[in-house]
Amino acid sequence: MIDSLIKISTLLQENNTVFVSLSVVLGLVIGSFLNVVTYRLPKMMQREWQNNCLELQGQPISDIKQYSLVRPRSACPHCGHMISALENIPVISYVILKGQCRICKAPINPRYLLVEALTGILFGFISWKFGYSNNALFAAIFTSALIALTFIDFDTQLLPDDITLPLLWLGLVFNLNTGFTDIKSAVVGAMAGYLALWCIYWLFKFVTGKEGMGYGDFKLLAAIGAWFGWQLLPAVILLSSLLGAAVGVGLIFLMKRGRETPMPFGPFLAIGGIAALFFGTQIAHSY
Ligand SMILES: [Zn+2]
Repeated sequence: MIDSLIKISTLLQENNTVFVSLSVVLGLVIGSFLNVVTYRLPKMMQREWQNNCLELQGQPISDIKQYSLVRPRSACPHCGHMISALENIPVISYVILKGQCRICKAPINPRYLLVEALTGILFGFISWKFGYSNNALFAAIFTSALIALTFIDFDTQLLPDDITLPLLWLGLVFNLNTGFTDIKSAVVGAMAGYLALWCIYWLFKFVTGKEGMGYGDFKLLAAIGAWFGWQLLPAVILLSSLLGAAVGVGLIFLMKRGRETPMPFGPFLAIGGIAALFFGTQIAHSY
């Protein structure tokens, strides 16, 4: 048993093609799980808030049936058909089912496919860049969290503490020994990330009377600072602001979207975080 594990480990270390291919497959599977997280976590949070309100009012807490990230099994939102393991193979099932529920033929949201493919591709790039290493494992965890946050923020304009805070702590722990930066830069990065957006938030609110972003954004940038150090924060803020502004202006002109429609900032911070992961060294050297 241990012998074969060592053999597999050596193979993955020596043969990069095998490692990258396996990572892509793992990414597709994780992507499938991230779909569940983005769909269910906001609903679980909402139920918790409702229960908190009921508790405050001294009313009995609603006893809704067990609902978590793993239970119950996924079902078609249209006909309630329980999705079998065979219908749940990332990408392949979607293609075979032609993007429809097997029973009621209702279309399956193509976003599920997008999240799976995106996770698979990013895992492929991670394994190619970092090789068979600790860094690849942590980079994959970091990326998965950012993907989940991006799509939850799109849907609900929320960045759950349940993801941002553990991500921040994990970044600090990872950098305790040999991570992406030294622990001093990581701690300062976490504080500076939070404070930078906090200051911008209050300045914007003071000048315009509006809220330009939420506290979740501060925590996400704090997490990115904890992973890559304070040195990369200016580049991350610049990139995500430019992207956010470009997309915002584009939406106003192309979709005739109102200036007042709120736009989540988390996805742009996440893109900044992914850029820091892949190009951090180059960015740091450039200034
Ligand atoms: Zn159905």
